[in-house]
Amino acid sequence: MTRSLQVKAGSMVLRGTPAVSGVALAAAVRPIPRLSVEVSKDLVPEPDRASELSAFHAAATTVAARLRERAARASGAAAEVLTADAAMATDRGWLGAAEKLIAAGTPARAAAVAATDQFAEVFTKLGGLMAERVTDLRDVCDRVVAELAGVPEPGIPVPARPAILLADDLAPADAAGLDPTLIIGLATSLGGPTSHTAIIARQLGIPCVVAVAGLDEVEAGAGVLLDGSSGEVVVDPDPRLAAQALEEFRARATRDAAWTGPGTTADGHRVEVLVNVQDGAGARAARRTPAEGVGLFRTELCFLDRETEPSVSEQEQIYRAVLDAYSGAKVVIRTLDAGSDKPLRFADHPDEANPALGVRGIRIAARDSGILDRQLDAIARAAVGRRPVPWVMAPMISTAAEAESFAAKVRQRGLVPGAMIEVPAAALTAESILRHVDFLSVGTNDLAQYTMAADRMSPALAALTDPWQPAVLSLVAHTAAAGRTLGKPVGVCGEAAADPALACVLVGLGVGSLSAAASAIAAVGAGLSAVTRENCERAAAAALVAADPAAARVAARSILEWAP
Ligand code: PEP
Ligand code: MG
Repeated sequence: MTRSLQVKAGSMVLRGTPAVSGVALAAAVRPIPRLSVEVSKDLVPEPDRASELSAFHAAATTVAARLRERAARASGAAAEVLTADAAMATDRGWLGAAEKLIAAGTPARAAAVAATDQFAEVFTKLGGLMAERVTDLRDVCDRVVAELAGVPEPGIPVPARPAILLADDLAPADAAGLDPTLIIGLATSLGGPTSHTAIIARQLGIPCVVAVAGLDEVEAGAGVLLDGSSGEVVVDPDPRLAAQALEEFRARATRDAAWTGPGTTADGHRVEVLVNVQDGAGARAARRTPAEGVGLFRTELCFLDRETEPSVSEQEQIYRAVLDAYSGAKVVIRTLDAGSDKPLRFADHPDEANPALGVRGIRIAARDSGILDRQLDAIARAAVGRRPVPWVMAPMISTAAEAESFAAKVRQRGLVPGAMIEVPAAALTAESILRHVDFLSVGTNDLAQYTMAADRMSPALAALTDPWQPAVLSLVAHTAAAGRTLGKPVGVCGEAAADPALACVLVGLGVGSLSAAASAIAAVGAGLSAVTRENCERAAAAALVAADPAAARVAARSILEWAP
């Protein structure tokens, strides 16, 4: 397990929230800053306005095309973010607002900024998900302004040799476009462990630390040693100690790569190691890992761009692609978790002041069960004749009654019903819920958000939404105990399961399966294979009584000593 990095006198050690494990040693680079636009009162003379307008159009089109091109080279969440940003660069509303200003004589660059300000104000007032789109909108505007000025687009430089990127936070398009062979480590002063940036870094396998205090002081060119497991960023490290830390990490990575599954502790306690996927392509790619099945198929991610509900037969094809990729293996399909930060246009979400506390996930079925019924029909059709029968779980279950009604629908279709435990009330009543279903899966991302009353997207609250929070671990333990009492399986499929040390703690808490991003599978499985069940339990007991996440990490790691 990664210990605290050793440092020489004169090195500066910064600490943040670990987001993606791994060690990187390289020079720091910083993003190319955005161009600031002077707001001049001078109007463009009438005859020049048409060319100003066409320059604006050409810039927006070029930026959109570049984003689309990058989307085509990316996959999964990264591709989605880039596609959404490309769409924003050609959004009729935004283009129209800028065009109106240009037609009235405002220079193109100032018009782009003014139109963005107009929209940003409206989005911010609307709050929630709309407010989160402001970063994307400003990012697109900055790119268009740079294009108009004929300077490089702001964002990530392309370094001549591998580098560690230091930034406040990354615009989603920048995070999505990172090249993991050139950007080998990432540290941000903002962002949370479940923010866009962290999720994309995990998908790309880039060691990452977020919410690093004091990062602003570090200049481009400084030597940096970054440890994504401990959350430490050492500036100007001792070359010998840094080389040693890197060596240890590489030895671990070699050991990880040699792990072929199935999941067990060193003394043979069986733990299923499963993968999280979002479509057939992702599932086929995940087959290259030793994951023995799919522990979470986030179906809503297939439909984020849909205006209308996909037909049952279209859904059937999409689900079948994942089932086929893992034929003969366990696959857990989650019904649509629409709402909050993942609204689906066809789900007809009500206007809500607090969408994360609103009609989200299974709660949509209480207003109108049609979407859920049709999705279950599609899953049942995709599963015809398949063994083992797919497991199907509902997100955001809060009460036993919700679990009961969901389970009846799933059983009617010959499928295996389960419930996600993401709401503290559900964790506290896990036994009553589990009486109605055949398994539970803990979603630690939302469980942390709701336990700590801290928005999982808020960078300022990253320390609160840390899955090592003892209160969150205590709810996981309570849920696992329900599984033991009733003799039914309980797993974890939130980002917590992707942290190799925390994965061991979760096993020590009594969890029987871990489902994580494909990039984390080898490290999680190999880490587990190097510790005994008893040490997992001791580490879990120590983490549960720790004062805070940092103390929980230290306490658990001092017990979970991996063989070199
Ligand atoms: C979770 O909340 O931990 C989870 C797995 O669901 P999502 O991240 O998709 O909300
Ligand atoms: Mg969730």
